[in-house]
Amino acid sequence: MNYLSTRGHADRKRFCEILLEGLAPDGGLYLPETYPQVDTATLAKWRTLPYAELAFEILSLYIDDIPAADLKAICAKTYTAEVFGTDEIVPLRELEDGVYLEALSNGPTLAFKDMAMQLLGNLFEYELARRGAELNILGATSGDTGSAAEYAMRGKKGVRVFMTSPDGRMSPFQQAQMFSLQDANIHNIAITGVFDDCQDIVKAVSNDLAFKRKYRIGTVNSINWARLLAQVVYYFAGYFQATASNDKPVSFTVPSGNFGNVCAGHVARMMGLPIQTLVVATNENDVLDEFFRTGVYRVRAAVDTHETSSPSMDISKASNFERFVFDLVGRDPAKLRQLFVDDLGLTGCFDLSADPAFKQAAERFGFRSGRSTHDDRLAMIRDTEKRFATLIDPHTADGLKAAREQLTPGVPMVVLETALPIKFAATVVEALGEEPARPKKFEGIEALPKRVVQLPADAEAVKAYIAQHCD
Ligand SMILES: *Cc1c(COP(=O)(O)O)cnc(C)c1O
Repeated sequence: MNYLSTRGHADRKRFCEILLEGLAPDGGLYLPETYPQVDTATLAKWRTLPYAELAFEILSLYIDDIPAADLKAICAKTYTAEVFGTDEIVPLRELEDGVYLEALSNGPTLAFKDMAMQLLGNLFEYELARRGAELNILGATSGDTGSAAEYAMRGKKGVRVFMTSPDGRMSPFQQAQMFSLQDANIHNIAITGVFDDCQDIVKAVSNDLAFKRKYRIGTVNSINWARLLAQVVYYFAGYFQATASNDKPVSFTVPSGNFGNVCAGHVARMMGLPIQTLVVATNENDVLDEFFRTGVYRVRAAVDTHETSSPSMDISKASNFERFVFDLVGRDPAKLRQLFVDDLGLTGCFDLSADPAFKQAAERFGFRSGRSTHDDRLAMIRDTEKRFATLIDPHTADGLKAAREQLTPGVPMVVLETALPIKFAATVVEALGEEPARPKKFEGIEALPKRVVQLPADAEAVKAYIAQHCD
């Protein structure tokens, strides 16, 4: 399997070459040259597989530069009941007739990002050992991504993590999750400033090419193809649990931010998994909902990006969206560049409303969308607790709201649960007046010793810290 860039670069790469990379050299995103097709006989074989073996089968179609036995071992080591809480790994729960929640949030940090990041940690360790190389991951987080990355990379050979976060601005639970890690290869850096300052620092350090090369700086952001690929697996696992045979269509609703999660659903659908509809759920930051309603993709300015009670969906632009648009415009790199380089670069916007391609988003690719507000989330959390005795987090609430607007009789609707309510306790308390339950392993973590350094919002200070801690 070879990978190409959405922006038309002539190079073709293998999986392990793009594993440790971010963007393609021309600024595009990597995609497989073709989507492997899965027929009904294959689906029948896969239906009864344990999750780790299903992951191996799917990953094998995209990874041909890791020996099969090694890849199998990596999957088996990653997707265990010990790490993810159950033998199913992603158990499905029926809320009411035809509406399901797929639990993706029972990993180490209680958000779905663990599903991909845990695999990435093991792939990184494997590939770095094979090359005899090292990697220093530099990131910025306001919550879910940073903790998932740290729990995935802790104790891994050849990898260090330097994670910046805005000092005092994460929830106490999320802070405690990250700062209580005592592993020598994990470095928490609390920046005096806001999340944007952290992101600016990461950009400034990455733009210093000499520093970047000398200290082998890398990232684990959501445009990484390996992360997206790992997420394809749970669409198959959800499908098998929601149906009794492989001729039935299923729809999925996905609480969305950077479009990574739902893009994995798109890939599963392109492979031939019988997905009828993919519902993109957004909050007040509705750049994606606007596109699927109107055909206009209009990136928001920082001042127009709202801080909401589903903060992991607070985006101004969706960094994985380019992958889907590439398929939407018939994989034409010239047209893609027109939209993402020329139009977005000049006007911050592109308009496909009059383009026949836009119609295909719904008709051929099955996309729908929905949007919710803070009040919708509160109402959805209350309703779900009252009628089904089930607590959901505010991101999953965004999903459930959008899902209910897109139900088709006879077609199961699977809503992806992207975080556990304890991670966003303040909103759950606002809705219900009670604290959500906390898994045992997280009892009392706020009181544990914290391992964190404070630094000013200054890239030079962060560079000096990194240099000091790489031997
Ligand atoms: C990251 C995240 C999302 C958004 O996922 P994307 O892949 O960026 O679309 C939604 N919910 C939660 C809880 C998250 O952590």
